[in-house]
Amino acid sequence: MSDTMVLTGLEPVIGLEIHVQLKTRTKLFCGNLNEFGAEPNTHTCPVCLGLPGALPVLNREAIALGVRAALGLHCSVHERSVFARKNYFYPDLPKGYQISQFEEPFATGGYIELPAMTEPVRIRRIHLEEDAGKSLHDRIDRATAVDLNRTGVPLIEIVTEPDLSSAADARDFLVRLRQALEYLDVSDLNMEEGSLRVDANVSVRRPGDPLGTKTEVKNMNSFSNVERAIEYEIARQRRLVSEGGSVYPETLLWDANRGEARSMRGKEESHDYRYFPDPDLPVVEIPDDWLAEIAVSIPEMPWDRVARFQADFGLAREHAEYLTATRDLADYYEATVKAGAPSADAASWTLGEVLKAVKSDEAGDLASLRVTPGLLAGVIVLQNQGRISRPIARQVFAEMLETGRPAEQIVEERGLAQVSDQGALEGWVDQVISANPDAVERIRGGEAKLMGFFVGQVMKLSGGKADPRELASLLKSRLS
Ligand code: ADP
Ligand code: MG
Repeated sequence: MSDTMVLTGLEPVIGLEIHVQLKTRTKLFCGNLNEFGAEPNTHTCPVCLGLPGALPVLNREAIALGVRAALGLHCSVHERSVFARKNYFYPDLPKGYQISQFEEPFATGGYIELPAMTEPVRIRRIHLEEDAGKSLHDRIDRATAVDLNRTGVPLIEIVTEPDLSSAADARDFLVRLRQALEYLDVSDLNMEEGSLRVDANVSVRRPGDPLGTKTEVKNMNSFSNVERAIEYEIARQRRLVSEGGSVYPETLLWDANRGEARSMRGKEESHDYRYFPDPDLPVVEIPDDWLAEIAVSIPEMPWDRVARFQADFGLAREHAEYLTATRDLADYYEATVKAGAPSADAASWTLGEVLKAVKSDEAGDLASLRVTPGLLAGVIVLQNQGRISRPIARQVFAEMLETGRPAEQIVEERGLAQVSDQGALEGWVDQVISANPDAVERIRGGEAKLMGFFVGQVMKLSGGKADPRELASLLKSRLS
C-alpha cells in the first residue's frame, strides 16, 4: 500500500480500453491494403474516403480474427451483432462518422486471470470498428497533414470492467493480454506503430463507496508509460479529493517527456455521438458452424501452457512463465525436450544461451536461429553423458550458432571430448605440480581452498577437456 493510500484512504479504480489493429490483408469495409508505412494516402478509395454513394462491404477475415481473439479471452461470441455509426467531426475522419459496434457488440463477458489478484479481471465487451486516419504534425511547417491510409483499418476494442486497483496490476493485465493476443496471432501488436493502443480510465473512492468520477488518459506509447500515466493520475486525484475538490470528467493526454497528463477535452458521453445502426450494413451473423470452425483454431493459451509445463516438466512457475512468454519460445523449448533433452537442462539452456543468441542476432527471432531444438538437444545430451564439460558445451553451442552443424560432429572433429584417461590426466597434473611448488607446499600445509586453483590450472592446460570428476580424485590423492 502506497503512502498516499495510507494518508488519504482513497483507493484507485481502473478500467482499460484497448484498441488492437487486426492483421487482415485488406481494410474492414473495402479492398485497400491494410499496410503500415506506405506512402501517405495511397491506400484509399471512395469507400474509406466516405465519398457519396460508396458502400461498405464487410471483410470476413476481420470477423474471423476478432472472433478468435474473443474466444481466446473467454468471451461469449454472439450470433448476431450490429454495426453502428459513431458521429463526430475530426480532420482524420472523412466520413464524419466511425463505423463501430455499440448496443450489440459481437462478444461480451470474458476475463484474464492475474496471479497477483484473487479475482479475474473481467472483459466487459469486445467490438469491431474501423480505425480513423492519422494527423501528422511534423510533416508540414505550421500545418497538420492527414494520412488516410489507416482510415478503415479493422480494430477490435477490448473494454474491461473497472476491476483493477493499481498501476502495476494494469500493466500486468496488459502484458498478459498482449501475450494472449500474440498466441492468437491476430495482430502485429506494435505499440510504436499504433497497432496496440491503450486508454486508461481512472477514479478514486473511499473503500465501499460507489464508483467515483473517472478521467480517461490517452496517448501512452508503451506499457511503462501506461503505468506511469496511471500512477500520475491516481496521485493527482487523491490530492484533489483529499483537499475537498472534485474530479472533473475529462480526457487527458499523457506527456511522457514531462511525466504529466494534460487536459485535452471534457469527457464526451455516448449520447454525444448520436449512435445509430448503420443503414448501409446488414446485421452481422456468425453461425454456429463458423464459430466451431474458428474455435478449433484457438491454440493452447499461455496460462494453460504454464500449468502444463509445471505439471509435465517439473518446472517452477517462474520458469514456466518465462518459457511461455511467446508462443515461439514455448514451442522451441518443448521441441528441445521432445528431441531428448532433460526438461530442466532444456529450460536453463533455452532461457540462457538461446535467448542470449536471439538477442544478439540481427534478425532477432528464434525461427532464424541456426541451432534448432534438435541440435540444442544434441549438445545437452553430450554434456549430460559426461562426454563434454559445461564450458566446452558452451563453446560447441557458439560454433553451432555459426555453422548449424550437430554437436557430435564438432566435438569429434575438434577433439573436444572430455578426457578421463588416467595417463593423460596424470601428465597434466604433473606439469601443474612441478610448475607451482609454493602452492603445493601451502595446500599440503592445510590451505584446502587452493584446490580450486589446481583444478583451474589443469583445466586451462587441458583446454577445458579434463574430466572434472576424475581430475578431482587424482588431485586429491596427489596433493594430500
Ligand atoms: P464511458 O461511457 O464513459 O466510455 P464506460 O462505462 O463505457 O464509460 O466505461 C469505459 C471504461 O471505463 C471501461 O473500461 C470501464 O471499466 C471504465 N470505468 C467505468 N467507470 C469507471 C470508474 N468510475 N473508474 C474507473 N474506470 C471506470
Ligand atoms: Mg468509452
